[in-house]
Amino acid sequence: MSDYVSMWKDLGMDLERHDLLCQVLPTAVGDVFLTQENRPKGMDFWDLVISEVHGIRPKELIEEQKKGRKVFGTFCVYVPDEVILAANGIVTGLCGGSQFWVPGGEAVLPKSTCPLIKASVGARLGRTCPFFRIADMYVGETTCDGKKKAYEILGEDVPMYIMDVPQMKREKDILKWKDEIAAFARKVEEFTGNAITVEKLNEAIRIVNEKRKALARVYNCRKAACLPISGRDALLMMQISFFDDPVRCAQMCNKLADELEQRIAGGVSVVPAGTKRILVTGTPLAVPNWKLHNIIETSGGAVVCFENCSGIKAACQMVDEQAEDILSAIAARYLEIGCAVLSPNRRRREHLKRLIEEFHVDGVVEVDLQSCTTYGVETYEIQALLRELGVPYMALETDYAQGDCGQLSTRLGAFIERL
Ligand code: SF4
Ligand code: SF4
Repeated sequence: MSDYVSMWKDLGMDLERHDLLCQVLPTAVGDVFLTQENRPKGMDFWDLVISEVHGIRPKELIEEQKKGRKVFGTFCVYVPDEVILAANGIVTGLCGGSQFWVPGGEAVLPKSTCPLIKASVGARLGRTCPFFRIADMYVGETTCDGKKKAYEILGEDVPMYIMDVPQMKREKDILKWKDEIAAFARKVEEFTGNAITVEKLNEAIRIVNEKRKALARVYNCRKAACLPISGRDALLMMQISFFDDPVRCAQMCNKLADELEQRIAGGVSVVPAGTKRILVTGTPLAVPNWKLHNIIETSGGAVVCFENCSGIKAACQMVDEQAEDILSAIAARYLEIGCAVLSPNRRRREHLKRLIEEFHVDGVVEVDLQSCTTYGVETYEIQALLRELGVPYMALETDYAQGDCGQLSTRLGAFIERL
């Protein structure tokens, strides 16, 4: 990634510390992805993007900024991409998934904060992530308490807009959320200088829906008994989708899905017949957090479905393109995301039940990041649901550090063997 040094310098990054991050990433990519056998050819695209994750896309974003476009950094799938796109803005994910950034976050946050928040704050304050440096505006949301408060630190020297996400899903909450989206649209118009017309909003809805359909097409290929792609590769595809241009993302995913459908027809599987099929649920897995998928898939299992918001949860729901009241359609679609920050969160249970059937799941592994209260508490209900369905379930709490990998591998190996 040395070709990008002058770009990183211009972004005001801490080059010395960033070098340390650049040294560990290739080894991690090699260990987790390149050691797999019989991968789909289509993964070449994502291998290239991840190998130059701080180079290729940041460079593109800067080129677009020179043309006058604004970049919005987001942290959660409740923020509606359609509104930003309709004003010719660009969306990029900002969630931190690396242990490298955690100490920087711990320097200013309580140690007991969830690693995702600590890493995001560490990436920003340590000046080692180009995406945090490039974004013209950060868009936060009132989801969990840790994030809500961290935005006060993250927004110190970057314009920050916070969307007030309802905590419940009553009729009045949906109306409030619609108002909140309308207010956000006005802010985006003001910030970009571009009016959001009905036509532009409809076009943006179509683009984002096409991206979701393409992601879901890849996902759905994993329902087949013949598994044409590993969980690790599917996760990487999902994680990169938060950073990529949505049109290109849809093209690349559709190309990959074509290949996967051919593989299924030809009986080309990435795992031996009889490999146990695991569904992973729980907190989000931000890039480059591949820890659990890697452990499961090197302990005799295959992750066939990943339910959380960096998995299928947010990709399988479309905004109604025929709706007359567009903002209501956007509001309804986004509040359908079954996140544990909502109470009650019935949607997650319904979704899990359906996914377990459709993906022919043998066992469910819940992976929650340490100190995530909302998901931690919800394990009670998820456990009850799986008991009722008669599906083996295991709940784990972990962080980004590698220290517990051996222990997790032993526990997961034992769980998979019992299935
Ligand atoms: S888990 Fe919930 S709050 Fe966190 S990023 Fe996903 S949707 Fe947003
Ligand atoms: S994992 Fe939990 S604690 Fe961490 S940011 Fe998401 S909802 Fe908040």
